[in-house]
Amino acid sequence: AKDQGKNRWLLFEDRMHEQLLDRLDQECRLSQAVHRGELRLHLQPVFSLPDNRMVGAEALVRWEDPVQGLRQPGSFIPLAEETGMIVEIDRWMLLEACRVVKQWQDDDPETAPAWVSVNLSAAHLDEPDVTDQVAYALTATGLAPNCLVLELTETVLMRDLAVSTARLEELRQLGVKIAIDDFGTGYSSLGYLRDIPVDELKIDRSFITGLAANGRQRELVNAVIQLGHTLGLRVVAEGVEESSELNLLSVMDCRYAQGYHLGFPEPADDLHARLSAPVLH
Ligand code: C2E
Ligand code: CA
Ligand code: CA
Ligand code: CA
Repeated sequence: AKDQGKNRWLLFEDRMHEQLLDRLDQECRLSQAVHRGELRLHLQPVFSLPDNRMVGAEALVRWEDPVQGLRQPGSFIPLAEETGMIVEIDRWMLLEACRVVKQWQDDDPETAPAWVSVNLSAAHLDEPDVTDQVAYALTATGLAPNCLVLELTETVLMRDLAVSTARLEELRQLGVKIAIDDFGTGYSSLGYLRDIPVDELKIDRSFITGLAANGRQRELVNAVIQLGHTLGLRVVAEGVEESSELNLLSVMDCRYAQGYHLGFPEPADDLHARLSAPVLH
């Protein structure tokens, strides 16, 4: 029995060891991903309602991992945030998003998105020179400032309201727009909408899913849309997967929507090609 216990302990130790090695390996590969050119920028279209035209796009990161293939952010962003590597990823995405969309606007203004939204992590917002980084991305690529939207979650903004407000004012001075991402899932004390300078609300997917089936939820979303409009904000519904959801949002006077029903995230070239393909009648 004593031996068995010992064996179990060895097994346990082995597994811990394996997990540790795996983490170190992932960390090492992720830290090289940026300069090895393994990050990919995907764009998900944002549509205007009720005319259903693409007007904007959100930049979402993917990692072409030589070992595991194309990876979604959920599988590496947490590690990137823990290790601080997220700042490097965000900086690359910011520059790449501005570059890709400016190029598209120059090549084919008919189909190009009028704006691109980039996700900003807490660590990136805390960089003392984040405003310089954004200014650099704009001048280096030539993208007009009002074509860039920076998305921040409520949780990130609410950490220190005074600091966030000052930082956002600085960024807005450049002429870029600020969006509150995943609206409704954070602290959501409505008071901060009074103080924080923002231009756009993105209603979280959890409020959109099941919209058709739930009357209370519909009233809530309707109220958020009206509130946003009253404050002069652009309101975007996220995670629209059903035509019934889209129709209801239209009726509620929501002007912008994003979701699998309208378009998946994909490489900019693929999105561009689909939008410029002749429409078959
Ligand atoms: P997010 O910013 O809320 O982005 C929206 C996520 O919802 C994306 O997942 C998108 O693919 C997904 N989505 C869009 N429409 C639908 C839909 O109709 N149904 C469902 N079920 N999902 C939908 P993705 O690309 O896996 O990104 C997940 C999260 O990772 C993002 O959530 C964002 O928080 C983070 N992220 C992605 N790219 C970046 C980045 O470049 N920097 C930072 N800091 N975070 C990023
Ligand atoms: Ca986002
Ligand atoms: Ca979101
Ligand atoms: Ca999110």
